[in-house]
Amino acid sequence: MSKISINQLHMALSEANSILLTVHVHPDGDAIGSMLAFYEALLAQGKKVTMVVDDSIPEKFSFLSYVDCIKTVEQCQDLDPIDMLLVLDASTYERIGQVGALCSAPIFNIDHHISNTEFADGLYLKTDFAATGEIIADLCKKWNWPMTESMANALYMAIATDCGFFKFSNTTANTLEMAALCVAAGARPNQISETIEAVSAERLTLTKQVMQTIEFYKDSSVATIELNRDAMDILGDDTDGFVDIIRNVDTVDIAILLKAQNDSITRVSLRSKRTDVNAIASQFGGGGHVRASGCTINLPLPEAKMALIKVLP
Ligand code: 5GP
Ligand code: MN
Ligand code: MN
Repeated sequence: MSKISINQLHMALSEANSILLTVHVHPDGDAIGSMLAFYEALLAQGKKVTMVVDDSIPEKFSFLSYVDCIKTVEQCQDLDPIDMLLVLDASTYERIGQVGALCSAPIFNIDHHISNTEFADGLYLKTDFAATGEIIADLCKKWNWPMTESMANALYMAIATDCGFFKFSNTTANTLEMAALCVAAGARPNQISETIEAVSAERLTLTKQVMQTIEFYKDSSVATIELNRDAMDILGDDTDGFVDIIRNVDTVDIAILLKAQNDSITRVSLRSKRTDVNAIASQFGGGGHVRASGCTINLPLPEAKMALIKVLP
């Protein structure tokens, strides 16, 4: 069994009493928002739930309820028996880091990535949904699970951050309907966007230097922007937004953010208006969506950049 229906998912959840809930490493707004909302929903269903992420949680998400309940892998070494490992917003087993080793329970996966490798025992995959948060909101609606104000805020943030606050091509009528459900349940769009999009003076100062790294290729249809080690030390996990600076250039189809993880490993974020960047990231062992993908290249940043440029269509 891999792909499962909504009814099979419901059945599996109703049979599980103790659930370990996780999301992908480098957690983004969709991962964190989906997990916090589903945590609350499952608690309301009488489940025993533990949230764990094999990474640090970016500070900007601390305004959401239950963030303090997210545990590290180290804190989960002596867990009581687990009935289900529930993985949200992660498309491969590797993307959950060391969480997979914490228990041997059946793995269920709720996801929206076209590159999903079907690693789970039960996969509820909706590739036409803009965010895992959109799937969670849809499940709550269909199952008549009440959406509290804190769930609404978490899910609105999840949905909004994965579709560029409703600007990207993955935004559908259903995306907006699910966001509307969140707002009706108490989500505050202005507060969420102010919190998520807020920048410090230090970050803006750094952005001036980062802008100097912008380069254009292929008649300016490709643009790159770079974060070196010094920049990464200042920014920590919070590198969202840099790729949008070049994505918004009128001639640009493919926008590439290169992040120096260290002297020999480069993290890459790809965004596009037309080209299938999931296919490009896949060539380097990554994946994601047709218009937004990522990968890690085991090369220093300048060489990783050239390796990427070489394979572009
Ligand atoms: P981001 O550039 O924001 O890190 O990621 C963009 C999209 O690509 C997200 O949906 C993310 O889950 C996916 N993605 C990023 N990096 C990787 C990776 O290394 N492997 C896979 N399979 N997907 C990735
Ligand atoms: Mn994500
Ligand atoms: Mn997502």
